[in-house]
Amino acid sequence: MTNEAQRREESELAELLGIRCCSCDAEVQARLTDGAEIYPHRPDLKDLPFWRCDQCGNFVGCHHKTKNRTRPLGCIPTPEIKNARKEIHKILDPIWKSGKMARKDIYAKLTDELGWKYHTAHIRSVEEARKVYRIVKRYA
Ligand SMILES: [Zn+2]
Repeated sequence: MTNEAQRREESELAELLGIRCCSCDAEVQARLTDGAEIYPHRPDLKDLPFWRCDQCGNFVGCHHKTKNRTRPLGCIPTPEIKNARKEIHKILDPIWKSGKMARKDIYAKLTDELGWKYHTAHIRSVEEARKVYRIVKRYA
């Protein structure tokens, strides 16, 4: 095997193993698929990349507008976590959209209080989501 082929295989492997599934509570071998499978009733999404955990059937979208278009947005959420993230955005987004606080400032506060670099897509459990929700509420 050439070095290049080996490197390619390693990076593919890292990509496969590197996705955390919240429901399985493990790094899983997610499978790259597309919107045609995930959202069959949404033809507008059919070409978008998604990573699906075949063990539990949950999935995550990708940073599809960037150069590395199959890079997952974060861990694979359960429907409950996905819902909780949506609720958080409903409170969080108006805080910076209204100009009450700069977006980077509210994210910095969350990072400080949580002890991990805050990004809504990185919420891994309903407990974490609750914690975030409580912090965000204070600034709303
Ligand atoms: Zn899973």
